[in-house]
Amino acid sequence: MTAVSKVAVVGSGIAGLAAAIQLAKAGVDVDVFEAKPELTALGSGISLQGNALRVFDALGAWGDIRAAGFAFEGLTLRAPGPDAPVVAELPDVKTGGPDYPAGMGMPRAELARILLAHAEKAGARMHFGVKATALEQSDAFVELSVDGTRAGEYDLVIGADGLHSTVRELIGIDVEPQPTGMGIWRTFVSRPDEVQRSELYYGGPVYIAGYTPTGEDSMYAFLVEKAQDRSGVSDEEATGIMLAESRAYGGPWNQIRGDLERGARAHYTWFTHHIVPAPWNRGRAVIIGDAAHSCPPTIAQGAAQGLEDAFVLTQLLTSRDELDQDLWDEFHARRMPRAQAVVEASVQLGQWQIDGDRDADAGGLIFGIAQKMAQPA
Ligand SMILES: Cc1cc2nc3c(=O)[nH]c(=O)nc-3n(C[C@H](O)[C@H](O)[C@H](O)COP(=O)(O)OP(=O)(O)OC[C@H]3O[C@@H](n4cnc5c(N)ncnc54)[C@H](O)[C@@H]3O)c2cc1C
Repeated sequence: MTAVSKVAVVGSGIAGLAAAIQLAKAGVDVDVFEAKPELTALGSGISLQGNALRVFDALGAWGDIRAAGFAFEGLTLRAPGPDAPVVAELPDVKTGGPDYPAGMGMPRAELARILLAHAEKAGARMHFGVKATALEQSDAFVELSVDGTRAGEYDLVIGADGLHSTVRELIGIDVEPQPTGMGIWRTFVSRPDEVQRSELYYGGPVYIAGYTPTGEDSMYAFLVEKAQDRSGVSDEEATGIMLAESRAYGGPWNQIRGDLERGARAHYTWFTHHIVPAPWNRGRAVIIGDAAHSCPPTIAQGAAQGLEDAFVLTQLLTSRDELDQDLWDEFHARRMPRAQAVVEASVQLGQWQIDGDRDADAGGLIFGIAQKMAQPA
């Protein structure tokens, strides 16, 4: 028995597909509604820590993900300057336990493709190009409408529809993501041989410069700056800004600049933060992932938290007989403190950068969060 037999998932990002895979594998009838006409993943690459990899394993997707990504241990800190001197080599906590690498970089598009294949194989029905527009609830079911038309009656609607969640609004939660004051330039480039793990540069014209390997031939590189209105910037201007702001950094940055000069695109976005106080459900509708919480990627835990939301929720839904208050209480008890700790620490790390606080114990905060993430979700 499962607590639900028919579920609608709104959104086909990492959190939505993870929930769909786990439910469909347990024999639940799953419809996934995605507003975009096809699967696209915004941004270039993503860094996934052990606790995210552990969830992929539970979904049955770890083998494919391991083959497609670039696993690494530890973190290198470098300084600005033509030779990009190495300042420290830091060990990582294996947040997924000894069976998984500490971290892995992946092209976002590849991750999305793998999760979609697993969702379809498990039997989830995918509906692209349809937007959830209304919800109507009774004690017995929730009716979902897409594009203004009734889509069906479900035992549960999972709103995994991201930062600007429609489901969040439809169930009357008015918490909205807020800017943290930082913006990030990202580009997807070739990987110099010497880059074998994530490397960060503190100091210089931006708050943080860095890159993460995503495959044998690829990595993503980024520059974190004071948030600015970059809305009217053309592709050429974007590349020019990334080139100019990266000039203070040498070493592997020379190759990154070569790729930018040959046409690698630069993308800009602001960091946000928010956390919806418990409960994340209203009756038979619940929000997970970025719909419920967001944070700057200062410890690269955003997607991992969405995955853990999906994992814990679906574990409860497939191991209980009833969708009752007891289930929701356990869901929130397992998810809220963990997600909140990640959001608060991620925001604090960014704020210390903005304030130029050189005495802050960033290492201690990161280590403490990693220790927490190493516990099962
Ligand atoms: C610059 C940056 C770098 C990051 N780096 C990392 C990192 O290295 N590691 C990490 O763990 N996290 C990182 N994160 C966070 C991570 O990207 C997010 O937490 C994660 O992708 C959110 O996944 P999601 O499934 O919750 O939402 P999303 O990926 O936003 O998916 C939501 C989906 O819902 C769809 N949708 C929206 N409204 C509707 C509707 N009404 N009907 C139907 N569909 C709808 C959208 O089209 C979208 O496809 C980063 C975030 C940023 C901003």
